[in-house]
Amino acid sequence: MGFKDVPVKQKIMGITLLTSSLVLVVIALSYILLEYYSFKKSEKSNLQTVGLIIASNSSAAIAFDSPHDGAEILAALRANKYITAAALYTAEGKLFARYPDDLNTNSLPKTISEDGYQFKDEYLEGFQSIRQKNLYLGKLYLRADLTRMQQQIVLTATTSLFLIAAVLILAFLLSRFLQKYISRPILELEKTARFISEKGDLSVRAVQRSGDEIGTLTRSFNMMLDQLDSKNLEIHAANEESLKLAAIVESSGDAIIGCNLEGEIITWNQSAERILRYPAEEAIGQKVEFLVPSSEASLFKTMIKDLDASGGRKPVETILVRKGGNNPDISLTLSPVKNSHGVLVGFSLIARDISIQKQNERILAENEEHLRLATQAAELGTFDLDVRTARLVWDKRCKELFGVEDQDEVDYDNTFAKHLHEDDRDRVLKVIDNLLYNRFNNGDYDIEYRTVSPAGKVRWVRAMGKVFFDEYGKPLRFIGAVLDISEKKKEEIRKNDFIAIVSHELKTPLTTMKSFVQILLSKAKIAADEFAINALSRTDAQTNKMTSMIKDFLQLAKLEEGKINIVKGEFALCDLLQDTVAEANLLSSSHSIEVAHSDRGLVLADRDKIGQVLINLLSNAMKYSPAGKKIVAGCIREADHLKVFVKDEGVGISPEDQKHLFKRFYRVDNEKIKHISGFGIGLYLVSEILKYHDSEIRLESEEEKGSTFFFYLKIQESPH
Ligand code: ADP
Repeated sequence: MGFKDVPVKQKIMGITLLTSSLVLVVIALSYILLEYYSFKKSEKSNLQTVGLIIASNSSAAIAFDSPHDGAEILAALRANKYITAAALYTAEGKLFARYPDDLNTNSLPKTISEDGYQFKDEYLEGFQSIRQKNLYLGKLYLRADLTRMQQQIVLTATTSLFLIAAVLILAFLLSRFLQKYISRPILELEKTARFISEKGDLSVRAVQRSGDEIGTLTRSFNMMLDQLDSKNLEIHAANEESLKLAAIVESSGDAIIGCNLEGEIITWNQSAERILRYPAEEAIGQKVEFLVPSSEASLFKTMIKDLDASGGRKPVETILVRKGGNNPDISLTLSPVKNSHGVLVGFSLIARDISIQKQNERILAENEEHLRLATQAAELGTFDLDVRTARLVWDKRCKELFGVEDQDEVDYDNTFAKHLHEDDRDRVLKVIDNLLYNRFNNGDYDIEYRTVSPAGKVRWVRAMGKVFFDEYGKPLRFIGAVLDISEKKKEEIRKNDFIAIVSHELKTPLTTMKSFVQILLSKAKIAADEFAINALSRTDAQTNKMTSMIKDFLQLAKLEEGKINIVKGEFALCDLLQDTVAEANLLSSSHSIEVAHSDRGLVLADRDKIGQVLINLLSNAMKYSPAGKKIVAGCIREADHLKVFVKDEGVGISPEDQKHLFKRFYRVDNEKIKHISGFGIGLYLVSEILKYHDSEIRLESEEEKGSTFFFYLKIQESPH
C-alpha cells in the first residue's frame, strides 16, 4: 500500500509528524554543528592562550639553558587535563624539555612547524615560537586531547534526540486530536458518497460543519446531489415514459417503423411484422426503401423531403411491399424524430393497413353505381331524412315526383307534408310517426299516397324505406325510395271501380236468392224433404260465403278509395269473439272451434269491422287446416290490453310467405292449398282494419305445424 492509498487521517498525522521531525532534526543538526564549530574555535583559542603563557614563561629557562626549569614550567600544564603532551625545543630544533616526563619522544612531531594550531584526527596540536625581545629562542609544542569536545557533542546529540522524541510524541498527540477537524468532514463526505454508490439512494446529504474549503466542498457535493437527484427523477420519469411508449408502440395496431437519418430501419413493431410479414430480424438494418414499390418511390421521396417542414403531416394513402406479395393498401404518416436539442435524428413510419377499408370502398362505389343505375332505370326517387337534425335530402327524381324544382331546398313540413294530397296527408304522417316513435313494423315503410305539385298535378307514388334506430331505440335515419305508380294506380282504380260495381250489382240478386233459399228451406223442413233440406242448407252456406266475399270486395274498394268508415263504440271483445265462434261453428261441418280464454274487457272499436277481422281469421283457420283439426280461439288480458288469438293446427306458413301475407291479393303458391279458392284480400283487410284501430295483426307459424294469428286492442275500462 503506497502513501497515496493511506487513509486521510493517517496521511494528515503522517505529514504533521514528518514535517515536525524534519524541522526538529534540522534544528538539532544545526545546533550540534554550531556547537562543534564553536567548541573547536574555543579549544583552539584556549590552547593558543595556554601556549602564549607557557612560551613566555619558558623563555628564561631556554635562555639560561635550564631543561629542568623548562620541565617544571611544562609540569604546570597538569592543571589542564586535556593537554596530553607538550615539548620545548631549542632554536636549533633540539628537544629541550617534555611533558609528561615519560612522554615517548616518538609520539612528538618529527619536524617543527610554523606557529599555529591544527586539528588532527583525535587531537589539536601546534607550535608557538618562544621569543625574548624579538630574539627567537625556540618552540613550544602543545597537544590537546579532543575527547571533551566529543563528549560535549554526544551529550548535545542525545539531548536533542530526547527532545525530538518528546516533541514528536506531543506532535503526534496534538495532530491526532486536531486532524479530525480536517479529516472528519472528508470522511463524512466519503461515507455519504459510499452509501449513495452502494444503496443508490440519492436522498441522503453530507453535513456541512465548517465554512472553509471542505465546507464549500460539502455544500457543492450536496448541490451536485440535488442536481443528480432531480436529473435522476427526470431520467426515471423519462424511462417510465419510454417504457410506456414502447408498450404502446408494441401493442399498436399500426405498423410503427423507426429509421435513422440514413434511412436504415432500427425498430420494427409486432404490427409491422403482421402487416408486412417481414420478421424484425429481416427488416432491421435494411434501407427503408425496400418497403416502397417502384410506383410509389417518387411519392415517398417527397414525403422524406417534407419531413422537417413545419406544420402537421397528413397521412397519405399508398402501398407498401409485403413479403410474399399481395401488397397492402396503407395509410402512411412520416414523422420526424428529434433529440432533446431539437435536432433531427431520424424519422418514423406509421402505417395503417387500410386494405379492407379500400376494398369496402371499392365495393361500396360499385354498389352505389349499381344502385344509381338501378334507381335511374327504375325511375326511383330517393329520400334521406336525418331524424336528429331534421335535415331532409331528396334526389332530383324525388323532387320531380313531388313537383319541386331541382334547385329548391326541401324539408319535412314545408315540402314533404305540404305536397301530400290532403286526403292522404293524415294517414301518411301518422304511419311515419308510428314508424319513427312507436317502431311499428320494425321501422319498415311501404305506403302508397298521392303527391300534389304546386301546379296542381296529382301523382300516385309508392314509397318504401326503413328507419334506423340507435341502441336506445331512438330514430336516427329514415331512408328510402319513391316510385311513380300513377299509371298502375289508374289501372287499379279502374279495377276497383269495376269490382265495386260488380260486387254491388251482385249483392242485390244474392240477397234475393238468399231470402228465396231460406223460404224454400223452411218449406222443405215442413215437408220433411231430406234431400231438399240438405241441398238448400248447402246453397244457403254457399250464399253466405258469397255474401262475405262480396262484402270483402266492397270493403276493399272502400279502403282503396280511403272511404272506409270506422264507427267506434264500446263493447265487450270476448262476447264478440264468442258470438263469432258460435256462428262459425254453426256454419262449419268440418271443424269445431273452441274458445279457450275469455278474459273480459271493454274496447273502443268498430264492432262490425272487428267482427269481420275475426270471421276472416276463423274462416282461414278452417280453410287451411285439415277437417277435424283443432282450432282454438281466445281473448286474454295482458296488462291494459286484450290479446285476441286464433290458433290452428293446419298447413302453416313459411317464413318467406309470412313477410308478404298481409299484402293485397297475396296468396301462397303451394301444392297443398292449390285447390283452396280465395282472392288474397282477407288478411289485407284484417291488417288495414287493425291499423285504423292503432293495432296490427301478428303471426306465429311453422309449416306443417299450424299458425296462430293474434292482435291487441286497448282495454277501455275494467269489466264490471
Ligand atoms: P285467401 O284466403 O282468400 O287466399 P287471405 O288474405 O285470407 O286470402 O289469405 C292469404 C293467404 O294466406 C292464403 O292464400 C293462405 O295461403 C294464407 N293463409 C291465411 N290464413 C292461413 C292459415 N290459418 N293457415 C295457413 N295459411 C293461411
